[in-house]
Amino acid sequence: MTTTESRPASEPMTGKFDPPSPNVTSVPFEAPTADVMGGAARLEVRVGEHGFVALVDAMPRLVPEGQTADAAIVQAARVSYGQGTKRVNEDRGLLRYLMRHRHTTPFEMVEFKFHMAMPIFVARQWIRHRTANVNEYSGRYSIIPDQFWRPTVEDVRRQSSTNRQGGEEPIAEQGIEGVQTAQQFVDYLDRAAGLYPEYEALLGQGVSRELARVGLPLSAYTQWYWKCDLHNILHFLELRLDPHAQREIREYAEAMYALVEPIVPVTMEAFRDYRLEGLNLTRLEVDAVRAKLRGDGDGSLDSKNKRERDEWEQKRGRLGLD
Ligand SMILES: Cc1cc2nc3c(=O)[nH]c(=O)nc-3n(C[C@H](O)[C@H](O)[C@H](O)COP(=O)(O)OP(=O)(O)OC[C@H]3O[C@@H](n4cnc5c(N)ncnc54)[C@H](O)[C@@H]3O)c2cc1C
Repeated sequence: MTTTESRPASEPMTGKFDPPSPNVTSVPFEAPTADVMGGAARLEVRVGEHGFVALVDAMPRLVPEGQTADAAIVQAARVSYGQGTKRVNEDRGLLRYLMRHRHTTPFEMVEFKFHMAMPIFVARQWIRHRTANVNEYSGRYSIIPDQFWRPTVEDVRRQSSTNRQGGEEPIAEQGIEGVQTAQQFVDYLDRAAGLYPEYEALLGQGVSRELARVGLPLSAYTQWYWKCDLHNILHFLELRLDPHAQREIREYAEAMYALVEPIVPVTMEAFRDYRLEGLNLTRLEVDAVRAKLRGDGDGSLDSKNKRERDEWEQKRGRLGLD
């Protein structure tokens, strides 16, 4: 390429687009720009004692002064040149229309890059989101840090009897036995974390890092760079902010939400309105509402499936249809 050919390899990179080849036209911004991250190298939210979610870059990083990165979505939707925005109200209306009608590709035009540290059991759930680009800390090349996830006694949860995947109720609230059981769980994690000196000793005796790490528990921390477009981040947030998601990954999703929201506030408002806090009704549920409104039903679901009926009861509660 002419651009690299014209700069001797020994010359340092200046960050300046210099010199452009005769085929490249450099078009300046039409208006003064602002950094969506306010000039910060990273914006960080701590999660627990050792975890964090840090925003390290965004695309677009620069937006016309007075605008947000929402402008890039509108620009893509209109396939427009330059600023591509119209009046603020029209842009907002378009964004909300795109969100309502799941016209998703314009939201892929905005990207975020994060650096995160999380326990391995959270990372295992996180990595299932395949549309991100991930580069993880290597326990083959580097020594795993002496950091382990550890809840307080009050945070230890009882297995739910209705939801097989989770539990929200603190076990310590079940009297003295509950407190003892919660303490027993924390001690069990402490014993697992107590394997760390043995890990270090085995490294010292020459065992390879790739093998020595295998005995460490899922409460050990890992780190990665995680880059994803906004459309897929919204999908991630929808799944992982949901009460059905495990609390520990939800805390990370909340941190991510807090970092993204000020950069694309109009999109996030639409996301909350139409997806996060909206309610999807199945055909059977619509029939139940209709019957209730007609007065020829009590609003219960015509289904033999208990889980489906339970889910409808929760939605009815939210709709105030009791
Ligand atoms: C509450 C909860 C409980 C869960 N429980 C379990 C469990 O018990 N066991 C388990 O294994 N997993 C479980 N998962 C993980 C879940 O099944 C998904 O793997 C995870 O949520 C990622 O969702 P996704 O595939 O939609 O996201 P992404 O991988 O980010 O993909 C986004 C979208 O891209 C498309 N896509 C991506 N890759 C492909 C592909 N290869 N082919 C076709 N379309 C693709 C799909 O439309 C997909 O929805 C659970 C998730 C949640 C939220």
